[in-house]
Amino acid sequence: MLRKWLCQADVTLHIEPQDPVLIKSGYATLDGPDMVPVSSLRNGKQSYFLPGTSLKGVLRSHFERIARTLREASVCIPYLDPRKGGTLKGAVKAEERSFGCGFRQAAEWRPDTSAKAYLESCAACRMFGSLRFAGRLSIGDAFPLPGHEPISSFRNGVGIDRFTGGTVRGLLFDLVVLEGGVFKTAVRLTNFELWQLAALNFLLLDLQDQMISIGSGRSRGLGRVKGAVERYVVSYVRPSDKVRGIGELATVEERSVYGLMQWQPEATIPLPPVQTRGLRYEYDLTADWANRLEGLLGSLQAFLEWHQPLGQAR
Ligand SMILES: [Zn+2]
Repeated sequence: MLRKWLCQADVTLHIEPQDPVLIKSGYATLDGPDMVPVSSLRNGKQSYFLPGTSLKGVLRSHFERIARTLREASVCIPYLDPRKGGTLKGAVKAEERSFGCGFRQAAEWRPDTSAKAYLESCAACRMFGSLRFAGRLSIGDAFPLPGHEPISSFRNGVGIDRFTGGTVRGLLFDLVVLEGGVFKTAVRLTNFELWQLAALNFLLLDLQDQMISIGSGRSRGLGRVKGAVERYVVSYVRPSDKVRGIGELATVEERSVYGLMQWQPEATIPLPPVQTRGLRYEYDLTADWANRLEGLLGSLQAFLEWHQPLGQAR
């Protein structure tokens, strides 16, 4: 996405489990993407961490839910592969052809460029990526804060067949149960569009309100976490007096090849005093990011209504 760097949002996030978090350690996972078993030697001590890839998956599915609530079938079903044929069981009619953006190919005969992949990607893939495109949001592994390591214990589990409810022969796995602890991670949104900053705000607010769970057994109410923003900074390549996204910073041509929406909040959102860091102009929104960026929230709905992914099923 854009070979040059124009803007970025950086959030330092604390994740505090409110319930025990179940992590499967070992063999098969029956219910798809999951927290993988994790421990690593850090400062000579072994501790569990929450892998960034898993956190990203959790945030993605939460974002997909938000997007589908705002507009039905507005994001793809990432694993729905048209080559495998058939339709998705239980999918609503509007979603029958919501093939994963990663399985689509460029709509016209033209080399597939990153601009084209971005243009043709749904909101979720633009943010979180697909097989065609890396996505704008990244999140690092979350390590326990010193003195706030979780308590861990092991349990043996037996694989349960999702369809029959019976046990699956030979499928045994260990469960690691994490209790307590505070984990710290970094979320970054590079070259953001304004609606992506809005989406990030929705995610951070839902984390704050303990609406997001991680690990296994989420359907049983386990793994609820509380998020807290330690630091929130937006930076630009040039000084700015107000919050802008690449829709405004890119050239007219870039706007059209990448499919960037032009959208302005009702009232200009001012930025606090600038701090320069090398080539970057930084604005620290830590004190009031939720209120300050509130005027952006309508842009997500506007984007979902404006944008139709264009790629064709292979
Ligand atoms: Zn998609």
